[in-house]
Amino acid sequence: DVRVRFCPSPTGTPHVGLIRTALFNWAYARHTGGKLIFRIEDTDAARDSEESYEQLLDALTWLRIDWDEGVVTGGPHAPYRQSQRTSIYEEIIEKLKASGHLYESFSTAEEIDARNEANGRAKQLGYDNFDRTLTEADREAFRAEGRAPALRLRVPDTDLSFDDLVRGEITFPAGSFVDFVVVRPNGAPLYTFVNPVDDALMGITHVLRGEDLLSSTPRQIALYDALVDIGVTTFIPRFGHLPYVMGEGNKKLSKRDPEANLFHHRDRGFIPEGLINYLALLGWSLTHDRDVFSIEEMVAAFDVVDVNPNPARFDLKKAESINGDHIRLLAVDDFAARTVPYLVGAGILTEPLKDAQATVLAKAAPLVQERMALLGEAPAMLGFLFQQAADLEYQPDALATLPENTGVILAAAVGALELIPLEEFTHDRIKDDLAIALIEGLGLKPRIAYGPLRVALSGRKISPPLFESMQILGKHESIARLVRLSR
Ligand code: GLU
Repeated sequence: DVRVRFCPSPTGTPHVGLIRTALFNWAYARHTGGKLIFRIEDTDAARDSEESYEQLLDALTWLRIDWDEGVVTGGPHAPYRQSQRTSIYEEIIEKLKASGHLYESFSTAEEIDARNEANGRAKQLGYDNFDRTLTEADREAFRAEGRAPALRLRVPDTDLSFDDLVRGEITFPAGSFVDFVVVRPNGAPLYTFVNPVDDALMGITHVLRGEDLLSSTPRQIALYDALVDIGVTTFIPRFGHLPYVMGEGNKKLSKRDPEANLFHHRDRGFIPEGLINYLALLGWSLTHDRDVFSIEEMVAAFDVVDVNPNPARFDLKKAESINGDHIRLLAVDDFAARTVPYLVGAGILTEPLKDAQATVLAKAAPLVQERMALLGEAPAMLGFLFQQAADLEYQPDALATLPENTGVILAAAVGALELIPLEEFTHDRIKDDLAIALIEGLGLKPRIAYGPLRVALSGRKISPPLFESMQILGKHESIARLVRLSR
Protein backbone atom coordinates (compact mmCIF):
# COMPACT_ATOMS: atom_id res chain seq x y z
CA ASP A 1 0.00 0.00 0.00
CA VAL A 2 1.11 3.49 -0.82
CA ARG A 3 2.52 5.51 2.09
CA VAL A 4 3.65 9.03 1.29
CA ARG A 5 4.75 11.81 3.56
CA PHE A 6 4.88 15.54 3.92
CA CYS A 7 7.76 16.44 6.20
CA PRO A 8 8.48 20.16 6.26
CA SER A 9 10.95 21.91 8.47
CA PRO A 10 9.06 24.56 10.43
CA THR A 11 10.93 27.66 9.31
CA GLY A 12 9.35 30.87 8.02
CA THR A 13 5.89 31.14 6.49
CA PRO A 14 4.45 28.37 4.29
CA HIS A 15 5.89 28.67 0.78
CA VAL A 16 3.53 27.97 -2.14
CA GLY A 17 6.05 25.48 -3.56
CA LEU A 18 6.11 23.59 -0.28
CA ILE A 19 2.32 23.48 -0.09
CA ARG A 20 2.24 22.29 -3.71
CA THR A 21 4.42 19.39 -2.52
CA ALA A 22 1.94 18.68 0.29
CA LEU A 23 -0.92 18.75 -2.21
CA PHE A 24 0.73 16.31 -4.63
CA ASN A 25 1.50 13.87 -1.81
CA TRP A 26 -2.05 14.18 -0.54
CA ALA A 27 -3.56 13.71 -4.01
CA TYR A 28 -1.40 10.66 -4.60
CA ALA A 29 -2.43 9.13 -1.28
CA ARG A 30 -6.10 9.80 -1.95
CA HIS A 31 -5.90 8.60 -5.55
CA THR A 32 -4.28 5.30 -4.56
CA GLY A 33 -6.22 4.76 -1.34
CA GLY A 34 -2.91 5.03 0.51
CA LYS A 35 -1.87 7.01 3.56
CA LEU A 36 -0.38 10.47 4.01
CA ILE A 37 1.97 10.87 6.96
CA PHE A 38 2.62 14.39 8.24
CA ARG A 39 5.96 14.60 10.02
CA ILE A 40 7.73 17.69 11.32
CA GLU A 41 11.48 17.90 10.72
CA ASP A 42 12.41 20.20 13.56
CA THR A 43 15.98 19.19 14.27
CA ASP A 44 17.42 22.66 13.77
CA ALA A 45 16.50 24.50 16.96
CA ALA A 46 18.18 27.69 15.74
CA ARG A 47 15.87 28.01 12.73
CA ASP A 48 12.69 26.15 13.68
CA SER A 49 9.81 27.91 15.37
CA GLU A 50 6.50 26.99 16.96
CA GLU A 51 4.85 29.83 15.08
CA SER A 52 5.95 28.35 11.79
CA TYR A 53 4.63 24.93 12.87
CA GLU A 54 1.24 26.48 13.69
CA GLN A 55 1.21 28.15 10.30
CA LEU A 56 1.79 24.83 8.54
CA LEU A 57 -1.19 23.36 10.38
CA ASP A 58 -3.24 26.42 9.51
CA ALA A 59 -2.28 26.22 5.83
CA LEU A 60 -3.16 22.54 5.43
CA THR A 61 -6.38 22.90 7.40
CA TRP A 62 -7.47 25.91 5.37
CA LEU A 63 -6.84 24.04 2.11
CA ARG A 64 -8.53 20.92 3.50
CA ILE A 65 -5.45 18.78 2.99
CA ASP A 66 -5.93 16.13 5.64
CA TRP A 67 -3.50 13.45 6.78
CA ASP A 68 -3.83 9.94 8.18
CA GLU A 69 -0.92 9.78 10.60
CA GLY A 70 1.26 12.46 12.03
CA VAL A 71 1.34 15.44 14.30
CA VAL A 72 -2.01 16.29 15.94
CA THR A 73 -3.66 13.03 14.76
CA GLY A 74 -0.98 10.66 16.12
CA GLY A 75 -0.53 7.13 14.79
CA PRO A 76 1.51 3.93 15.13
CA HIS A 77 4.87 5.63 14.53
CA ALA A 78 4.47 8.49 17.01
CA PRO A 79 6.01 10.82 17.90
CA TYR A 80 5.93 12.61 14.55
CA ARG A 81 8.15 15.51 15.50
CA GLN A 82 11.79 14.72 15.00
CA SER A 83 12.77 16.80 18.01
CA GLN A 84 11.04 14.12 20.11
CA ARG A 85 12.67 11.13 18.40
CA THR A 86 16.25 11.46 19.68
CA SER A 87 16.36 8.09 21.45
CA ILE A 88 15.10 6.34 18.31
CA TYR A 89 17.96 7.84 16.30
CA GLU A 90 20.53 6.97 18.96
CA GLU A 91 19.59 3.32 18.81
CA ILE A 92 19.94 3.19 15.03
CA ILE A 93 23.22 5.08 15.14
CA GLU A 94 24.60 2.46 17.52
CA LYS A 95 23.52 -0.39 15.23
CA LEU A 96 25.03 1.27 12.16
CA LYS A 97 28.27 1.83 14.03
CA ALA A 98 28.41 -1.74 15.27
CA SER A 99 27.86 -3.06 11.73
CA GLY A 100 30.60 -0.82 10.32
CA HIS A 101 28.34 1.38 8.17
CA LEU A 102 29.16 4.44 10.25
CA TYR A 103 32.64 5.28 11.34
CA GLU A 104 34.20 7.91 13.55
CA SER A 105 35.87 10.73 11.69
CA PHE A 106 38.26 13.14 13.38
CA SER A 107 39.59 15.08 10.38
CA THR A 108 39.25 18.83 10.71
CA ALA A 109 38.60 21.07 7.70
CA GLU A 110 42.20 22.30 7.87
CA GLU A 111 43.60 18.80 7.91
CA ILE A 112 41.49 17.83 4.91
CA ASP A 113 42.67 20.89 2.96
CA ALA A 114 46.28 20.18 3.82
CA ARG A 115 46.03 16.56 2.70
CA ASN A 116 44.33 17.49 -0.55
CA GLU A 117 47.03 20.05 -1.28
CA ALA A 118 49.81 17.53 -0.55
CA ASN A 119 48.14 14.86 -2.71
CA GLY A 120 47.30 17.19 -5.61
CA ARG A 121 43.56 16.59 -5.05
CA ALA A 122 41.21 19.47 -5.81
CA LYS A 123 40.21 21.40 -2.71
CA GLN A 124 36.51 21.52 -3.61
CA LEU A 125 36.34 17.71 -3.56
CA GLY A 126 36.49 18.11 0.21
CA TYR A 127 36.85 15.12 2.47
CA ASP A 128 39.02 12.29 1.14
CA ASN A 129 37.62 9.27 3.05
CA PHE A 130 40.87 9.33 5.05
CA ASP A 131 39.34 8.26 8.35
CA ARG A 132 37.91 5.05 6.86
CA THR A 133 41.19 3.30 7.56
CA LEU A 134 41.96 4.62 11.04
CA THR A 135 42.93 1.91 13.50
CA GLU A 136 41.49 1.69 16.98
CA ALA A 137 44.84 2.96 18.26
CA ASP A 138 44.58 6.04 15.96
CA ARG A 139 41.11 6.77 17.26
CA GLU A 140 42.24 6.37 20.88
CA ALA A 141 45.02 8.86 20.24
CA PHE A 142 42.55 11.44 18.83
CA ARG A 143 40.21 10.96 21.76
CA ALA A 144 43.11 11.43 24.14
CA GLU A 145 43.70 14.82 22.44
CA GLY A 146 40.16 15.70 23.45
CA ARG A 147 38.76 15.52 19.90
CA ALA A 148 35.13 14.49 19.43
CA PRO A 149 34.42 12.54 16.23
CA ALA A 150 31.70 13.12 13.64
CA LEU A 151 30.10 9.97 12.26
CA ARG A 152 30.29 9.36 8.53
CA LEU A 153 28.54 6.83 6.35
CA ARG A 154 30.84 4.46 4.46
CA VAL A 155 29.65 4.98 0.88
CA PRO A 156 30.18 2.18 -1.67
CA ASP A 157 32.56 3.03 -4.53
CA THR A 158 30.04 2.20 -7.24
CA ASP A 159 27.67 4.06 -9.54
CA LEU A 160 24.34 4.85 -7.95
CA SER A 161 21.19 4.92 -10.09
CA PHE A 162 17.53 5.30 -9.40
CA ASP A 163 14.45 5.60 -11.53
CA ASP A 164 12.89 8.94 -10.65
CA LEU A 165 9.10 8.86 -10.99
CA VAL A 166 9.10 12.30 -12.63
CA ARG A 167 12.49 12.44 -14.34
CA GLY A 168 13.30 8.84 -15.27
CA GLU A 169 16.65 7.15 -14.77
CA ILE A 170 19.21 9.27 -12.89
CA THR A 171 22.77 8.05 -12.34
CA PHE A 172 25.39 9.41 -9.99
CA PRO A 173 28.73 7.92 -11.07
CA ALA A 174 31.03 6.36 -8.47
CA GLY A 175 32.95 9.09 -6.66
CA SER A 176 30.18 11.71 -7.05
CA PHE A 177 30.08 12.03 -3.32
CA VAL A 178 32.30 11.06 -0.44
CA ASP A 179 31.60 9.47 2.92
CA PHE A 180 29.37 12.19 4.36
CA VAL A 181 28.71 13.28 7.91
CA VAL A 182 25.47 11.96 9.37
CA VAL A 183 26.08 12.84 13.03
CA ARG A 184 27.90 15.95 14.18
CA PRO A 185 30.69 15.79 16.78
CA ASN A 186 28.18 17.14 19.32
CA GLY A 187 25.95 14.11 18.70
CA ALA A 188 23.30 15.91 16.63
CA PRO A 189 22.15 13.83 13.64
CA LEU A 190 21.76 15.69 10.35
CA TYR A 191 18.82 15.97 7.96
CA THR A 192 20.48 13.50 5.53
CA PHE A 193 20.28 10.92 8.31
CA VAL A 194 17.02 11.48 10.17
CA ASN A 195 14.97 11.98 7.01
CA PRO A 196 15.62 8.53 5.47
CA VAL A 197 15.68 6.86 8.88
CA ASP A 198 12.18 8.09 9.60
CA ASP A 199 11.02 7.27 6.08
CA ALA A 200 12.30 3.72 6.64
CA LEU A 201 10.73 3.38 10.09
CA MET A 202 7.43 4.80 8.88
CA GLY A 203 7.28 2.50 5.86
CA ILE A 204 7.27 5.30 3.28
CA THR A 205 6.88 3.85 -0.22
CA HIS A 206 7.10 7.02 -2.33
CA VAL A 207 9.17 10.11 -1.58
CA LEU A 208 7.65 12.98 -3.53
CA ARG A 209 9.47 16.22 -2.88
CA GLY A 210 10.96 19.30 -4.46
CA GLU A 211 13.70 19.24 -7.06
CA ASP A 212 15.96 21.15 -4.65
CA LEU A 213 16.40 17.89 -2.72
CA LEU A 214 17.46 15.82 -5.74
CA SER A 215 21.15 16.14 -4.85
CA SER A 216 20.62 14.57 -1.43
CA THR A 217 18.81 11.54 -2.86
CA PRO A 218 21.86 9.39 -3.77
CA ARG A 219 23.25 9.89 -0.25
CA GLN A 220 19.93 8.92 1.21
CA ILE A 221 19.75 5.82 -0.96
CA ALA A 222 23.24 4.87 0.22
CA LEU A 223 22.02 5.23 3.79
CA TYR A 224 18.91 3.22 2.93
CA ASP A 225 21.14 0.39 1.72
CA ALA A 226 22.76 0.34 5.15
CA LEU A 227 19.35 0.40 6.85
CA VAL A 228 18.24 -2.58 4.77
CA ASP A 229 21.47 -4.36 5.70
CA ILE A 230 20.83 -3.99 9.44
CA GLY A 231 17.16 -4.91 9.05
CA VAL A 232 15.47 -1.58 9.82
CA THR A 233 13.52 -1.92 6.57
CA THR A 234 13.28 -4.30 3.65
CA PHE A 235 12.87 -1.91 0.76
CA ILE A 236 13.97 1.42 -0.68
CA PRO A 237 11.16 3.83 -1.61
CA ARG A 238 10.62 5.24 -5.09
CA PHE A 239 11.61 8.89 -5.45
CA GLY A 240 9.90 11.59 -7.49
CA HIS A 241 11.25 15.13 -7.63
CA LEU A 242 8.68 17.83 -8.32
CA PRO A 243 9.67 20.83 -10.45
CA TYR A 244 10.82 24.18 -9.16
CA VAL A 245 8.28 27.00 -8.92
CA MET A 246 9.51 30.07 -10.78
CA GLY A 247 8.45 33.66 -10.19
CA GLU A 248 9.03 36.89 -12.11
CA GLY A 249 11.89 36.90 -14.60
CA ASN A 250 12.10 33.11 -14.53
CA LYS A 251 13.86 33.09 -11.19
CA LYS A 252 13.04 30.61 -8.45
CA LEU A 253 10.25 32.01 -6.31
CA SER A 254 12.29 33.01 -3.29
CA LYS A 255 11.21 32.99 0.32
CA ARG A 256 11.42 36.78 0.41
CA ASP A 257 8.99 37.17 -2.47
CA PRO A 258 5.52 38.05 -1.06
CA GLU A 259 3.93 35.81 -3.69
CA ALA A 260 5.82 32.87 -2.20
CA ASN A 261 3.82 33.16 1.00
CA LEU A 262 0.62 31.13 0.90
CA PHE A 263 -1.10 33.45 3.38
CA HIS A 264 -0.46 36.45 1.17
CA HIS A 265 -2.88 34.88 -1.31
CA ARG A 266 -5.43 34.05 1.38
CA ASP A 267 -5.28 37.63 2.64
CA ARG A 268 -5.99 38.92 -0.85
CA GLY A 269 -9.06 36.73 -1.09
CA PHE A 270 -8.13 33.50 -2.79
CA ILE A 271 -10.59 30.81 -1.75
CA PRO A 272 -9.18 27.36 -0.94
CA GLU A 273 -10.89 25.79 -3.96
CA GLY A 274 -9.28 28.32 -6.29
CA LEU A 275 -5.81 28.33 -4.81
CA ILE A 276 -5.60 24.55 -4.62
CA ASN A 277 -6.66 24.32 -8.25
CA TYR A 278 -3.89 26.71 -9.17
CA LEU A 279 -1.28 24.94 -7.03
CA ALA A 280 -2.21 21.70 -8.80
CA LEU A 281 -1.22 23.32 -12.10
CA LEU A 282 2.31 23.93 -10.83
CA GLY A 283 3.67 20.84 -12.53
CA TRP A 284 0.51 18.93 -13.36
CA SER A 285 -2.61 19.29 -15.46
CA LEU A 286 -5.92 17.51 -15.67
CA THR A 287 -6.25 17.73 -19.44
CA HIS A 288 -4.45 20.01 -21.86
CA ASP A 289 -7.53 22.17 -22.46
CA ARG A 290 -9.02 22.58 -18.98
CA ASP A 291 -7.51 24.70 -16.23
CA VAL A 292 -10.47 24.81 -13.89
CA PHE A 293 -11.35 21.66 -11.98
CA SER A 294 -12.41 20.49 -8.55
CA ILE A 295 -10.24 18.76 -6.00
CA GLU A 296 -12.30 15.58 -6.51
CA GLU A 297 -11.45 15.64 -10.21
CA MET A 298 -7.80 16.06 -9.34
CA VAL A 299 -7.82 13.14 -6.93
CA ALA A 300 -9.55 10.90 -9.46
CA ALA A 301 -6.93 11.64 -12.12
CA PHE A 302 -3.69 12.33 -10.24
CA ASP A 303 -0.66 10.17 -10.86
CA VAL A 304 2.83 11.34 -10.00
CA VAL A 305 4.26 9.90 -13.23
CA ASP A 306 2.27 12.56 -15.11
CA VAL A 307 4.07 15.41 -13.33
CA ASN A 308 6.02 17.59 -15.74
CA PRO A 309 9.71 17.83 -14.81
CA ASN A 310 10.13 21.31 -16.30
CA PRO A 311 10.07 24.33 -13.98
CA ALA A 312 6.55 25.61 -13.33
CA ARG A 313 5.83 29.33 -13.54
CA PHE A 314 3.73 30.98 -10.87
CA ASP A 315 1.38 33.13 -12.95
CA LEU A 316 -0.62 35.34 -10.62
CA LYS A 317 -3.00 36.58 -13.33
CA LYS A 318 -3.93 33.05 -14.25
CA ALA A 319 -4.28 32.11 -10.58
CA GLU A 320 -6.69 35.01 -10.03
CA SER A 321 -8.75 34.14 -13.05
CA ILE A 322 -9.07 30.53 -11.87
CA ASN A 323 -10.02 31.79 -8.42
CA GLY A 324 -12.76 33.93 -9.98
CA ASP A 325 -14.12 30.85 -11.73
CA HIS A 326 -14.29 29.02 -8.40
CA ILE A 327 -15.95 32.02 -6.74
CA ARG A 328 -18.69 31.80 -9.36
CA LEU A 329 -19.17 28.11 -8.61
CA LEU A 330 -20.07 28.84 -4.96
CA ALA A 331 -23.67 28.86 -3.78
CA VAL A 332 -24.59 32.51 -3.40
CA ASP A 333 -25.13 32.40 0.37
CA ASP A 334 -21.80 30.62 0.81
CA PHE A 335 -20.19 33.31 -1.31
CA ALA A 336 -21.82 36.05 0.76
CA ALA A 337 -20.62 34.47 4.01
CA ARG A 338 -17.08 34.25 2.69
CA THR A 339 -16.96 37.98 1.94
CA VAL A 340 -17.78 38.86 5.56
CA PRO A 341 -14.25 38.53 7.01
CA TYR A 342 -12.97 40.84 4.28
CA LEU A 343 -15.73 43.40 4.91
CA VAL A 344 -15.06 43.18 8.64
CA GLY A 345 -11.33 43.50 8.06
CA ALA A 346 -11.92 46.68 6.08
CA GLY A 347 -14.04 48.12 8.91
CA ILE A 348 -17.20 48.12 6.81
CA LEU A 349 -19.04 45.57 8.92
CA THR A 350 -18.70 44.42 12.50
CA GLU A 351 -19.65 40.97 13.67
CA PRO A 352 -22.25 39.87 14.50
CA LEU A 353 -23.88 41.55 11.51
CA LYS A 354 -26.98 43.63 12.14
CA ASP A 355 -30.12 42.27 10.46
CA ALA A 356 -30.23 45.17 8.04
CA GLN A 357 -26.62 44.56 7.02
CA ALA A 358 -27.22 40.86 6.50
CA THR A 359 -30.20 41.74 4.31
CA VAL A 360 -28.18 44.14 2.18
CA LEU A 361 -25.37 41.61 1.84
CA ALA A 362 -27.76 38.86 0.77
CA LYS A 363 -29.29 41.13 -1.89
CA ALA A 364 -25.96 42.45 -3.13
CA ALA A 365 -24.04 39.16 -3.26
CA PRO A 366 -25.54 37.92 -6.55
CA LEU A 367 -24.70 41.26 -8.19
CA VAL A 368 -20.98 41.01 -7.48
CA GLN A 369 -20.32 37.28 -7.46
CA GLU A 370 -19.99 37.39 -11.24
CA ARG A 371 -17.43 40.16 -11.14
CA MET A 372 -14.98 39.18 -8.46
CA ALA A 373 -11.68 37.36 -8.86
CA LEU A 374 -10.67 37.80 -5.22
CA LEU A 375 -12.78 38.12 -2.07
CA GLY A 376 -10.52 41.02 -1.15
CA GLU A 377 -12.39 43.07 -3.75
CA ALA A 378 -15.54 42.90 -1.62
CA PRO A 379 -14.90 46.08 0.42
CA ALA A 380 -14.38 48.20 -2.68
CA MET A 381 -17.32 46.67 -4.53
CA LEU A 382 -19.80 46.47 -1.70
CA GLY A 383 -18.68 48.98 0.89
CA PHE A 384 -20.85 51.80 -0.49
CA LEU A 385 -24.00 49.79 0.14
CA PHE A 386 -23.36 49.83 3.90
CA GLN A 387 -22.60 53.53 4.19
CA GLN A 388 -24.74 56.65 4.59
CA ALA A 389 -24.83 59.27 1.84
CA ALA A 390 -22.93 61.72 4.02
CA ASP A 391 -20.03 59.30 4.64
CA LEU A 392 -19.48 58.27 1.05
CA GLU A 393 -16.02 59.06 -0.26
CA TYR A 394 -15.55 59.86 -3.91
CA GLN A 395 -12.51 58.34 -5.62
CA PRO A 396 -10.50 61.04 -7.43
CA ASP A 397 -10.39 58.99 -10.65
CA ALA A 398 -14.17 58.72 -10.51
CA LEU A 399 -14.65 62.47 -10.01
CA ALA A 400 -12.36 63.05 -12.98
CA THR A 401 -14.85 61.29 -15.27
CA LEU A 402 -17.76 63.60 -14.48
CA PRO A 403 -19.03 65.52 -17.54
CA GLU A 404 -19.76 69.25 -17.42
CA ASN A 405 -23.51 68.73 -17.40
CA THR A 406 -23.38 66.48 -14.34
CA GLY A 407 -25.65 68.83 -12.41
CA VAL A 408 -28.32 68.66 -15.10
CA ILE A 409 -28.11 64.88 -15.30
CA LEU A 410 -28.36 64.43 -11.53
CA ALA A 411 -31.29 66.87 -11.25
CA ALA A 412 -33.21 65.04 -14.00
CA ALA A 413 -32.51 61.69 -12.34
CA VAL A 414 -33.67 62.96 -8.94
CA GLY A 415 -36.85 64.28 -10.56
CA ALA A 416 -37.58 60.92 -12.15
CA LEU A 417 -36.87 58.90 -9.01
CA GLU A 418 -39.01 61.19 -6.83
CA LEU A 419 -42.03 60.20 -8.92
CA ILE A 420 -41.64 56.44 -8.35
CA PRO A 421 -43.88 55.28 -5.49
CA LEU A 422 -41.92 53.69 -2.63
CA GLU A 423 -43.39 50.22 -3.14
CA GLU A 424 -42.54 50.29 -6.86
CA PHE A 425 -38.89 51.22 -6.37
CA THR A 426 -37.52 48.16 -8.21
CA HIS A 427 -34.60 47.95 -10.62
CA ASP A 428 -36.84 47.46 -13.67
CA ARG A 429 -38.93 50.48 -12.88
CA ILE A 430 -35.86 52.58 -12.02
CA LYS A 431 -34.24 51.57 -15.29
CA ASP A 432 -37.30 52.44 -17.39
CA ASP A 433 -37.94 55.77 -15.73
CA LEU A 434 -34.31 56.89 -15.85
CA ALA A 435 -34.14 55.93 -19.52
CA ILE A 436 -37.17 58.10 -20.23
CA ALA A 437 -35.76 61.03 -18.28
CA LEU A 438 -32.12 60.88 -19.38
CA ILE A 439 -31.83 59.03 -22.69
CA GLU A 440 -35.05 60.24 -24.26
CA GLY A 441 -35.58 63.41 -22.26
CA LEU A 442 -32.03 64.82 -22.35
CA GLY A 443 -30.97 62.95 -25.48
CA LEU A 444 -27.85 61.51 -23.80
CA LYS A 445 -25.92 58.35 -24.61
CA PRO A 446 -26.25 55.78 -21.77
CA ARG A 447 -22.54 55.97 -20.94
CA ILE A 448 -22.75 59.73 -20.41
CA ALA A 449 -26.08 59.58 -18.59
CA TYR A 450 -25.27 56.83 -16.10
CA GLY A 451 -21.61 57.64 -15.33
CA PRO A 452 -22.46 60.47 -12.89
CA LEU A 453 -25.14 58.34 -11.23
CA ARG A 454 -22.62 55.59 -10.64
CA VAL A 455 -20.17 58.04 -9.05
CA ALA A 456 -22.95 59.59 -6.93
CA LEU A 457 -24.10 56.23 -5.63
CA SER A 458 -20.84 54.38 -5.09
CA GLY A 459 -18.10 57.00 -5.21
CA ARG A 460 -16.45 54.85 -7.87
CA LYS A 461 -16.25 54.55 -11.64
CA ILE A 462 -17.10 50.89 -11.53
CA SER A 463 -19.74 49.45 -9.26
CA PRO A 464 -22.19 46.57 -9.24
CA PRO A 465 -25.16 46.97 -11.61
CA LEU A 466 -26.51 50.46 -11.12
CA PHE A 467 -30.28 49.92 -10.93
CA GLU A 468 -29.98 46.90 -8.66
CA SER A 469 -27.73 48.92 -6.37
CA MET A 470 -30.38 51.66 -6.21
CA GLN A 471 -33.01 49.15 -5.33
CA ILE A 472 -30.84 47.80 -2.51
CA LEU A 473 -30.09 51.31 -1.22
CA GLY A 474 -33.76 52.26 -1.42
CA LYS A 475 -35.45 55.37 -2.75
CA HIS A 476 -34.57 57.74 0.04
CA GLU A 477 -30.88 56.85 0.22
CA SER A 478 -30.47 56.80 -3.58
CA ILE A 479 -31.91 60.26 -3.94
CA ALA A 480 -29.84 61.55 -1.01
CA ARG A 481 -26.67 60.42 -2.79
CA LEU A 482 -27.63 62.03 -6.10
CA VAL A 483 -28.42 65.26 -4.29
CA ARG A 484 -25.17 65.21 -2.37
CA LEU A 485 -23.01 64.99 -5.51
CA SER A 486 -24.97 67.69 -7.26
CA ARG A 487 -24.14 70.22 -4.54
N1 GLU B 1 12.45 18.74 5.92
C1 GLU B 1 12.79 18.73 4.54
C2 GLU B 1 12.51 20.08 3.94
O1 GLU B 1 11.61 20.76 4.38
C3 GLU B 1 11.98 17.66 3.86
C4 GLU B 1 12.62 17.13 2.67
C5 GLU B 1 11.93 15.89 2.13
O2 GLU B 1 10.77 15.96 1.74
O3 GLU B 1 12.60 14.86 2.09
O4 GLU B 1 13.20 20.50 3.04
